[in-house]
Amino acid sequence: MNNMELANKGAIVTGGSVGIGAAIALDLARNGANVAINYRKHVDEANKIVEEIKKMGRKGLAIQADVTLYADAEKMVQSALKEFGRLDILVNNAGINQDAVVWKMTEEQWDSVMDINLKGCFNYIRAVAGIFKAQGHGRIVNITSINGLRGKFGQSNYSASKAGIIGLTKSVAREMGKFNININAVAPGLIETDMVINAPEEVRQKALAEIVLGRIGKPEEVASVVSFLCSEKARHITGEVIKVDGGQYI
Ligand code: NDP
Repeated sequence: MNNMELANKGAIVTGGSVGIGAAIALDLARNGANVAINYRKHVDEANKIVEEIKKMGRKGLAIQADVTLYADAEKMVQSALKEFGRLDILVNNAGINQDAVVWKMTEEQWDSVMDINLKGCFNYIRAVAGIFKAQGHGRIVNITSINGLRGKFGQSNYSASKAGIIGLTKSVAREMGKFNININAVAPGLIETDMVINAPEEVRQKALAEIVLGRIGKPEEVASVVSFLCSEKARHITGEVIKVDGGQYI
C-alpha cells in the first residue's frame, strides 16, 4: 500500500522510536498520515523518525511518554490531537520481553512485562476511546505475538501479556463496533529488530528453523499489514488476529 490511502489522518504509534514501531510510523506516513510516536529512552532515534516523517511532507511528533502511565497516554493523545487537528488511528506497539522460566521469574519481571505490554495497550485505548466514539470512527491495531497464541518456553510473562492483548482486542471490538471503530491485532513471528538481535544465537537459530519461508521477517513486512488494517480496504475486518510470521506458527 502506498497510495495516500491515509491522507491527512492523525495517527499515534506507541514505541515508534526503533524496530517495528518505527517501520509502522514511517509506513503510515508514506500512506499520507500525520504520525505521533512515543518512546522511553531512544530520544535521538525518535527525533530521526520524526524528521523522516516530515521529509515526506507530513506532520510528525515525538513525545517521551511511558505507556504504563495513564496520565502520559492522555497527555500524548491530547498533544497529537492539537498538532494534527484530528485523530483516527492508534497503533499499540510498545513492548518488551524479560525472559525466565517461571520458577526463576521475579515479580518485577512479571509486572514490568504485563504493565508495558498489556496495561500499556489499555491505557492508550482508554485515552482515545471517547474521541473515537464521539466522532464515529477510529482504527486500532494492537501488536501481539505468535507467542501469545501458542505460548513459549521461558516467556510465560510475555506470552500471557500477548494473549491478554488478544482478549482485549476481541472484547473492545464487541464494545466499539457499533461506533464504527475497528480494532485488530497483528501477531508477528521472528522479526529482525533489537529485541531479536539481542537474543542468544541459539534462540534465534531455533526460531529460524521453525519459519516455513526460511528467513527472519522484516519490520516493514509487519508495517504494511498494519497500514492495510488502518485503510478503507479493511473496513469490514474487526476483532481479528493476523499472523505475520512466514509460517513460523501454522
Ligand atoms: P524494540 O525493542 O526494537 O522496540 C520496542 C519499542 O517499545 C521501543 O520504541 C521502545 O522505546 C518502546 N517502549 C518500551 N517500553 C516502553 C514504555 N514503557 N513506554 C513507551 N515506549 C516503550 O521491539 P520490537 O520493535 O522488536 O517490538 C515491537 C513490538 O512487536 C513489541 O510489542 C513486541 O512484543 C512485538 N513483537 C516483536 C517481535 C520480534 O521478533 N521483534 C515478534 C513478535 C512481536 P524506547 O526504546 O525509546 O524506550
